[in-house]
Amino acid sequence: DKRKSGWNFDNSYSRLPEKLFSTIDSNPVSGARMIIFNHALAESLGLNTEALLEEEGLAVLAGNEVPQGGASLAQAYAGHQFGGFTMLGDGRALLIGEQITPDGERFDLQLKGSGRTPYSRGGDGRAALGAMLREYIISEAMHGLGIPTTRSLAVVTTGERIMRERLLPGAIMTRVASSHLRVGTFQYAANWCSVEELRALADYAIERHYPEIEEGEGRYLDFFKAVMKRQAALIAKWQLVGFIHGVMNTDNMTISGETIDYGPCAFMDVYDPKTVFSSIDAQGRYAYENQPRIGGWNLARFAEALLPLLHGEQEKAVEIAQEALYEYSGLYKSHWLAGMRAKLGIFNEEKEDEALIDELLGLMKEHHADFTNTFRALTLNKAEDALSGKPEYEAWRGKWQARLGRQEENLAAVQELMKRSNPAVIPRNHRVEAALEAAVEFGNFGVMENLLRVLEDPFAYSEEQEEYCAVPGPSGDDYRTYCGT
Ligand code: AMP
Ligand code: MG
Ligand code: MG
Repeated sequence: DKRKSGWNFDNSYSRLPEKLFSTIDSNPVSGARMIIFNHALAESLGLNTEALLEEEGLAVLAGNEVPQGGASLAQAYAGHQFGGFTMLGDGRALLIGEQITPDGERFDLQLKGSGRTPYSRGGDGRAALGAMLREYIISEAMHGLGIPTTRSLAVVTTGERIMRERLLPGAIMTRVASSHLRVGTFQYAANWCSVEELRALADYAIERHYPEIEEGEGRYLDFFKAVMKRQAALIAKWQLVGFIHGVMNTDNMTISGETIDYGPCAFMDVYDPKTVFSSIDAQGRYAYENQPRIGGWNLARFAEALLPLLHGEQEKAVEIAQEALYEYSGLYKSHWLAGMRAKLGIFNEEKEDEALIDELLGLMKEHHADFTNTFRALTLNKAEDALSGKPEYEAWRGKWQARLGRQEENLAAVQELMKRSNPAVIPRNHRVEAALEAAVEFGNFGVMENLLRVLEDPFAYSEEQEEYCAVPGPSGDDYRTYCGT
């Protein structure tokens, strides 16, 4: 009885114009084994985890069986990768459908690492266990941090070995997302589909993510602005926790406003605006300090893709789109400023707040202070190690304390706000690597499970979290991340 597992499945994407995807026959694997399963997420999707794991759970998560109502397909998309436009698509992922939760919300289930598709180009369509567990850990950490993100329902191994720099265990991760619509999906439609097909895609996206947008002349401009607003808020959240996405290509920017694609991402330890981890980003295009601007660049590409739907002659449409884009930097800035004020326990607004924030960031940079621990220390009324005892820092603290005196809220309220705004723990690179090494090399999943547990509530400031606050040794500066593993 399939209903026992709680599936309430559909694949609305399969009803869109057929140029937007390729239907895929299943690509069964024989040696599937469950590595990690997200019980809390499963329950929130309305799944009965016990029944699911007893029965067809593994078969579905390994791509051998699709719940009734679903349909396996690979989505077509294009994108600007490091500035160059190219055709892409799901080269190693299958959208099997959407689970409709008891509250009526619809979530995509996508199997990543499930084999070749018509969009695989030279790739093998597979994914390595380490890379899938890495995505699992970091996307769940992002969720814990309160940052909109795709999530991870499970990772299973396929029983196959795949060739990377060496043979590695192959794995499939089940990604859960509000949808997998990307800026690149619209770029694909704008370049290779008719205007009517592009409109069908836009209407689908609006219905799924912005149902409040009404029919009428301004419909697609409103859609653009709605996406822009969510992205401005999202990227500000990244900046506020030191998250570096690493591959902000337009195909990795969602329409829903969720973070997607945890390939080469990593969290910054020492504060340096130029930080880059990705081994392929030699120019630093996607460095920490560039993320907000790249967000705007990507949104401009999104506006271009929507031009045929914007009202009036093309020239007018370009002008309209440009005008809308000007709003983006202001929006981003206001989210960032509000977030920084909260990190410093500031409730009201003073014009000089930005200078106060900039001065702290300047000191952090100069003294190689750890980003997360600087704010954690301020929250605990201590000093971060690299800043401790520095006269300029003590002078800054004096200004900050005076600033806190110029608001009504008392110190308890300030500390409460700071605890909610400054995570005690982030998934530090050396801890993530240790968890992955234990799991992949030694089949020991306990290290990862402990890490995941402290990342569930990074604002808890619990005793258990303390050891996870330690910064890496000097070798941490050379940390490198990789795409497509
Ligand atoms: P990403 O860098 O993860 O955004 O992926 C860029 C493109 O490469 C997407 O079209 C992916 O589907 C594709 N891709 C990544 N890894 C593989 C793989 N192992 N086999 C086939 N396609 C892949
Ligand atoms: Mg991608
Ligand atoms: Mg990727």
